[in-house]
Amino acid sequence: MAGFALTEDQLALVRDVQGIVTSVLAPLAARSAPGHVDRALVTAMGEHGLLARVLGTAERTASAMDLCLARETLARVSTEAETALALQGLGSYPFLRFGGDDVVQRWRPAVLSGAAIAAFALSEPGAGSDAAALNLLAEPDGDGWRLVGEKTWISNAPEADVYSVFARTTPDTRAKGITAFVVAGDAAGLSGEHLDMLAPHPIGRLSFDGVRVTAADVLGDVDGGFTVAMRTLDLFRPSVGAFAVGMAQAALDATVAHTRRRQAFGNPLSEQQVVSHMLADMATRIEASRLLVYAAASAYDAGADPAEVTRRSAMAKLFATESAQFVIDAAVQLHGAQALLRGHLLEHLYREVRAPRIYEGASEVQRTIIGRSLTR
Ligand SMILES: Cc1cc2nc3c(=O)[nH]c(=O)nc-3n(C[C@H](O)[C@H](O)[C@H](O)COP(=O)(O)OP(=O)(O)OC[C@H]3O[C@@H](n4cnc5c(N)ncnc54)[C@H](O)[C@@H]3O)c2cc1C
Repeated sequence: MAGFALTEDQLALVRDVQGIVTSVLAPLAARSAPGHVDRALVTAMGEHGLLARVLGTAERTASAMDLCLARETLARVSTEAETALALQGLGSYPFLRFGGDDVVQRWRPAVLSGAAIAAFALSEPGAGSDAAALNLLAEPDGDGWRLVGEKTWISNAPEADVYSVFARTTPDTRAKGITAFVVAGDAAGLSGEHLDMLAPHPIGRLSFDGVRVTAADVLGDVDGGFTVAMRTLDLFRPSVGAFAVGMAQAALDATVAHTRRRQAFGNPLSEQQVVSHMLADMATRIEASRLLVYAAASAYDAGADPAEVTRRSAMAKLFATESAQFVIDAAVQLHGAQALLRGHLLEHLYREVRAPRIYEGASEVQRTIIGRSLTR
């Protein structure tokens, strides 16, 4: 872990997370059923105070830098623990940050203890990268609305206990007519099913058949839900980069050890100049990614100009996720056949590294954001 610009408190967070993930979370995660929420894992994160420390409390708002350091550190040891923490944060941030007092009081203790699993429901079959096209209808109904439609690719669905849901309150207005709501997982009319994905964490589809919501369930302003979604992604995007950095570092560490050990043509593989140059490129890309992530997170925490936060977040997510794909592919190559054995660390990382280039804004969308920031 680089010491660049990290304070004593940040280094202490890294040490604590390292301790918890190695001794408690990784052994628990090793017993997880792929594709399902691991409640024991999330509860353990709550019991060890990790969720409150990283996601923030009533007294202390979440820090992007802490979130990034925690995600990077967890990902080096257990991607399952990393993803469980990230999803709990992504799913709950909209209602903990933008919900009314009753919503926050009802859900905060349950989310931070790990008793309630949260999920972020934005994407739909007809609205992925173009989230402003979403069409889950919020039909006026007395003093509230009824939600009718579908969400898909929702991490932690359909098992989550509480969802941040983005729905259309005003037709034909794209981003200006979307409202965010908090919806309990057991709400009448809400159902769902699992999707079997390459990414090992739980993902599902949700069906809303007249799910009733009221003004008390609105997060932020009516028709202001797109802002809720974008503010949430501003915080979480750099941390997707941190996840990628952690996975890439784990792959590099394994590859350095392997190439020093593995004998071929009378010498360790690491003594082949081509191999050592490959290791050098991997390490350099990881370090560049890490610094972009830290810079983006620091800008967010410092309350920098929103345009700067958005540009830095896009650069960090783009470069770190693309670099991690390069690094993990190189790590597979330098390990040879054994990397492709089911259950090998690299076989696992090779599957894990693919999705972050698509979710929370595909790489092409990040490039569009960066390009626009240069030319406008
Ligand atoms: C593992 C995983 C977990 C997910 N979890 C969640 C979740 O918890 N909640 C949630 O709401 N969603 C979630 N998603 C959905 C995710 O946010 C969407 O997949 C993503 O926004 C892309 O949408 P899409 O898949 O519909 O692809 P599309 O929007 O159809 O895009 C397909 C491809 O087209 C290209 N493209 C799209 N737009 C542009 C453009 N403007 N310029 C150039 N190229 C472009 C990109 O290469 C993109 O990958 C998850 C997805 C995955 C894979």
